[in-house]
Amino acid sequence: MKPTDRNDTAAFASLGTPVWRASTVVFATLDQFVARRERLPDGFTYGTTGTPTQRALEQAIADLDEVAHCVVFPSGQAAICATLLTLLRAGDHVLMVDSAYGPARRFAGERLRALGVDVEFYPPRIGAAIGALIKPQTRLVWMESPGTMTMELQDVGAITAAARAQGVATGIDNTWASPLGFCAAAQGVDLVVHACTKYMGGHSDVLMGSVSTASESLYRALRDLQAGMGLAVSAEDCFLVERGLQTLQVRQQRQAASALVLAQRLLPHSMVKQVLYPPLPGSPDHPLWVRDHRLGGCTLSLQLQDAGFDAYRSLFAALKVFRLGASWGGVHSVAAFCPADELAARRHGEVSGPLVRLSIGLEEPQRLADDVLDALQCFASHR
Ligand SMILES: *Cc1c(COP(=O)(O)O)cnc(C)c1O
Repeated sequence: MKPTDRNDTAAFASLGTPVWRASTVVFATLDQFVARRERLPDGFTYGTTGTPTQRALEQAIADLDEVAHCVVFPSGQAAICATLLTLLRAGDHVLMVDSAYGPARRFAGERLRALGVDVEFYPPRIGAAIGALIKPQTRLVWMESPGTMTMELQDVGAITAAARAQGVATGIDNTWASPLGFCAAAQGVDLVVHACTKYMGGHSDVLMGSVSTASESLYRALRDLQAGMGLAVSAEDCFLVERGLQTLQVRQQRQAASALVLAQRLLPHSMVKQVLYPPLPGSPDHPLWVRDHRLGGCTLSLQLQDAGFDAYRSLFAALKVFRLGASWGGVHSVAAFCPADELAARRHGEVSGPLVRLSIGLEEPQRLADDVLDALQCFASHR
């Protein structure tokens, strides 16, 4: 058998996307090799800008986001940083929501400022009033809705319209809602980021981020940055995320339904001051959530009665089904802790910490609620 016969796939078909691994991409002629960069942003030149496995995933995410283009990056944080670096130069001004994902907030506040970018944090519920903060040098308004940990929902349509009226680009971290919950591009947002690590991967075993855009020029610029910074994504990881997408809808529906069950059962508890979960009727942003969202997310935050760190220690020690860890969106339920000083460092914070953030997985919701209610008893007895 010649190698070409062994590689003949004409007589083979399967339902999954093949995993194409490559650093080197080979060319048939010298002319093709010399002109290889002309193949970008869609085609193949070298492993850093992707393989057919990566393109299949990018197309699937772009379809979910209802735009033409998507570029994936090695993590959600890398996707956010790549977006910011693609748009911003020294002397530019960026408006970033105060409730943004912590590492993104730090990257802007420390690294971008060190590069000469004027970074300004704005209150999440600002709505159309964002227009008054826009300066001649403003290049980007960055949103995240709902906010990490504190769950403030943003009026994305109003903010985007105000930015667009002054010719300013918009971007959003849409991880919590996912494309199934909220279609940000349909509201006019130029750059839509997801941490695919969360629901899309769905099993807490892969890191990835995506940026979707309708703009051909932004797509080119993102792919160019991917090549320039060597932000390569593994083909196996693309395969895993694409497999995750096939069950995204059933997982997110079930996880959101369970999250609502928990929010409702925990709300009346004497140790619970506030349940931060926009899909919960009666919560501050519920009307906006009903207006904009088609499906809930799987994380909710609890603000508890005043207590010392010991009470939180015993709460986390008592949890049996929830595991203690960062990240979320997977099939296993996870609980995380957000210390008070982290929230106090925000400029426009309305919610004070500490907070307990629950990520609801696929376990039986009543069992999850019982687990938290038992842990709240331990919290109460150690206050
Ligand atoms: C987790 C998360 C990120 C970062 O994703 P990683 O893949 O872990 O880097 C970004 N935004 C939000 C809202 C997240 O929850």
